[in-house]
Amino acid sequence: MDVLRTRRCWIFDMDGTLTVPVHDFDSMRRELGLPQGVGTLEGLAALPAGEQARLRPLLDEIGWRYVELAQAQLGAGELLASLSARGGRLGLVTRNGRRNTLGTLAKIGLAEFFAPEDVHTRDDGAPKPAPDAVLQLLRGWGATPEDGVMVGDAVYDLQAGRTAGTATVLLDPVGDSAWRAIADLCVRDLRELHGFLS
Ligand SMILES: [Mg+2]
Repeated sequence: MDVLRTRRCWIFDMDGTLTVPVHDFDSMRRELGLPQGVGTLEGLAALPAGEQARLRPLLDEIGWRYVELAQAQLGAGELLASLSARGGRLGLVTRNGRRNTLGTLAKIGLAEFFAPEDVHTRDDGAPKPAPDAVLQLLRGWGATPEDGVMVGDAVYDLQAGRTAGTATVLLDPVGDSAWRAIADLCVRDLRELHGFLS
């Protein structure tokens, strides 16, 4: 993927991409009383406003429990340091909440790589798969989608990147993801991605 080597704007998903995956979304949906098979944010958004107002703090609270469990993926720090050293811009787009996101970045020791204004959470605007945060980051950096890469482990990440017009990288640890066809590059882990770029 030579085309990726020349790209200077790197946008990462957080949970399951920069961190070892720990979220049990089925259990989260059960605790929130949401049906299985829908995204947590989509399930919440479909509820009456009063219910949403009651459940959003609970979703933040459930998410906070995972902050304590957060561990960086192998090679995450090395990859970010290498991209940064070659003049790359680094951004983060997550469906997690802002407090949990900043807490996670601090816990895993990667906060230094992301300027606060380059961290987009569900509290800052339309969540992925909407491309809004990706496009906003690129605009802020004076860049175009052709400069960008979206890296993630879920279909939301690939959809947000594709819709924005960036290249996409799928983290697929087992190599059996159903979404491989819509990624420009599939890697097993971040060290493999780092290897591609070196
Ligand atoms: Mg993820």
